[in-house]
Amino acid sequence: MITYSFSFKKYFFFFFLLLFAIGGAQKKFTIVLDAGHGGNDIGTNRRYSDLGTVREKDITLSIILKLGNLLEKNKDYKVIYTRKYDEYPSLSERTTLANRSKADLFLSVHVNASPASSTGTNGTETYIQGPNQNRTNLEVAKAENDVIYLDEKDRQMFASYDPKSPESLIALKIQQSKYLESSLLIGSLVEENFSNRDKRYSRGIKQADLHVLRMNAMPSILIETGFVNNYDDASYLSSDKGQREIAESIYDAVQKYKKALERNGGDISQPKIADNKPEEKPLKNDFRILLMSSPMKYAGSDPALKGLNYILTMKENGMYKYYYSTTNLASVRDNNLKNAKDAGFKNATSISFIPNQKLGIGYYTLEIAVSDQKLSSNSYMLNTLKDVKRDKINGKFYYTYGRFTTLEEAVNTQKELEEKGIKNTVIEKVFK
Ligand SMILES: [Zn+2]
Repeated sequence: MITYSFSFKKYFFFFFLLLFAIGGAQKKFTIVLDAGHGGNDIGTNRRYSDLGTVREKDITLSIILKLGNLLEKNKDYKVIYTRKYDEYPSLSERTTLANRSKADLFLSVHVNASPASSTGTNGTETYIQGPNQNRTNLEVAKAENDVIYLDEKDRQMFASYDPKSPESLIALKIQQSKYLESSLLIGSLVEENFSNRDKRYSRGIKQADLHVLRMNAMPSILIETGFVNNYDDASYLSSDKGQREIAESIYDAVQKYKKALERNGGDISQPKIADNKPEEKPLKNDFRILLMSSPMKYAGSDPALKGLNYILTMKENGMYKYYYSTTNLASVRDNNLKNAKDAGFKNATSISFIPNQKLGIGYYTLEIAVSDQKLSSNSYMLNTLKDVKRDKINGKFYYTYGRFTTLEEAVNTQKELEEKGIKNTVIEKVFK
């Protein structure tokens, strides 16, 4: 009897302890703070005579430590760091840590760089996970994903992921829609604060296929805090004042985000939108957002496209139609339409495409160049591609390549050409 009552007390004690632990764990909002790069991976960097060498890995760590300090002072938060020192955790280590700790939010901080010639490019942008459709527009994705190959574990993780397989695309889209809305919310709050509190230029929210965003089972954002090759940004990013402002703005956004989730009802660990909705079923058709039709041909980086990524240009009857993004999920489509309108395309509309539909009349081809002068027969393009067709219309030379019956075939060939360095091609619909 004595033994029994003793063990009963012991069980009661452990039961009480367990309740306490669960109660405590529920109240804390867990945030994983990820300082980009580190150790051998310096990230992006520039040397200035007065600032010295400004390195991404140092700036991201300083900002993250300042942000962590603010969060840790508040008892509502539990903070987990992917690194607190100058070391390099692999990208899979970062995401595994985040997933194992069942975090509520993942914040990754980085520093941007633009091509060497454009030192005028400045400002902040925040990335959320997006569809992987148009490879050329993924400059940031490439820069951030390249570091994957520093580490053997990453190589293995990445090998199992084939972005070309339709299964992984569907899985990706479903996973993404689950956390998309909450990621969009925290991302918008961060960018709003950069713009309103710190008076910085916000380039807005963008979607990209980034490893640290894709592999996380929680709302996740990647914040590009400024451009290292822009002098003003670089001096702001390397100053104590700049780093403190950035950390405070992110902290304030987290507070607002947490309040918004609480208003959303009870459980703060997941937003209601993600919890109550049944898993979204893909639609039969693909949807693209038509931004505008214009006789002008714009490259992906042209300001006319207002910084939107994943642009598909299609030429029909001499007009260029610019489509943004593609998805077969209604929630993502609606969100894409909102993004387009927010970017300034007030008349944007969503257009439905039947996958792999064969054209009844005519065909698709790729317009690879338009020029006032005849291209030299030694040009890279004419040497690389066989059977390029040349037309002269109103004094201009139009070069086209290939004949396709479905849009998908044309898109695939366009990607192949991009890999060969032939960029800014346009899919043309020929009616004859
Ligand atoms: Zn980076």
